[in-house]
Amino acid sequence: MNAVWLSAVGGNMLIMVCGAAGFIGSHLCDSLLAAGHTVVGVDSLITGSQEQNLSHLRACARFAFREQDVSAAWDHAGPLDAVMHLASPASPKDFAELSLDILRVHSQGMHNALELARRKQARFLLASSSEVYGDPEVHPQPETYYGNVDPVGDRSCYNESKRFAEALVMAYHRQFGLETRIARIFNTYGPRMRLDDGRAIPAFIVSALKGEPLCIRGTGAQTRSPCYVTDTVRGLQLLLASDETRPVNIGRPDEWTMLELAQFINARVGNEAGVTYAEPLHNDDPHRRQPDITRAREGLGWEPAIALEEGIAHTVAWMRAHMRLDVHAAT
Ligand code: NAD
Repeated sequence: MNAVWLSAVGGNMLIMVCGAAGFIGSHLCDSLLAAGHTVVGVDSLITGSQEQNLSHLRACARFAFREQDVSAAWDHAGPLDAVMHLASPASPKDFAELSLDILRVHSQGMHNALELARRKQARFLLASSSEVYGDPEVHPQPETYYGNVDPVGDRSCYNESKRFAEALVMAYHRQFGLETRIARIFNTYGPRMRLDDGRAIPAFIVSALKGEPLCIRGTGAQTRSPCYVTDTVRGLQLLLASDETRPVNIGRPDEWTMLELAQFINARVGNEAGVTYAEPLHNDDPHRRQPDITRAREGLGWEPAIALEEGIAHTVAWMRAHMRLDVHAAT
């Protein structure tokens, strides 16, 4: 690990987080600030919420927020040590509703952020995704797997644009010598996910808290490997501090079927309404997802620490409190 950048784990770097008002971005801001860094949060608020996710940082002197669409022309005055690019709508619901915004943020938005990093001679980290593997034919997925992606599928605005974004990062690295890092994040969950996000864990928890049956798509045999958000954020920070310029999987290798996950959440919440199979599987939905994290273990000394039991307990507590707030706001 690079000695100067050891301080990305704890120190006083100037770090820009694009997508700061989102789910993972806001936790990343918290963690960087707790480690002693100064953070500039940038976000267009297209899916994120400054009010919900960043209001607790209002009085923090080392945090500044700028509302900005990174896909539009923009600049930042003053020095930066790192740009961490998490800006992108990320839930399957967004793939249908915000497909052009997603394509733009991974092309023009990424180009703008990479140019900014180049001008400031800052290190750049891309929050890429396990979606680059598409519907994988290799299991679990190592970083050396090239993926199985349908370029015109329902998810192509997201998975193909993450692949393009990775190529853009590598072009800046190879052509300009920019210090770059690529994190391939697998399904991450935790407090601050939107209640209506549409991804499986928040959807299951909201239904369970309402005492409704959890809606399983397809047979429920498709798998995911959920990772708690503080683990993901720690992985991003360690990757930023490392010398690893190749993509690195950040995810928890424990694999769960959707049915097992639904039953687990029902049991934790005490919901006796069970499950229902009303909805068909989304077109293009990957059947299996499990990270091979050998590279992260060996290169970063990282592995997830929070078991599903504990992570779900934190997430349920947060969602329960926020569902009450929503009910009060509506009455
Ligand atoms: P999120 O939607 O909660 O956060 C994304 C943030 O980016 C939002 O605050 C949104 O307003 C902002 N944003 C989007 N377009 C923007 C633009 N043009 N300019 C400025 N801000 C913009 O999603 P998340 O789950 O926190 O995901 C964060 C990042 O991690 C995304 O890049 C996503 O692709 C990646 N990722 C997430 C997961 C996961 O499981 N959550 C998995 C793999 C990859």
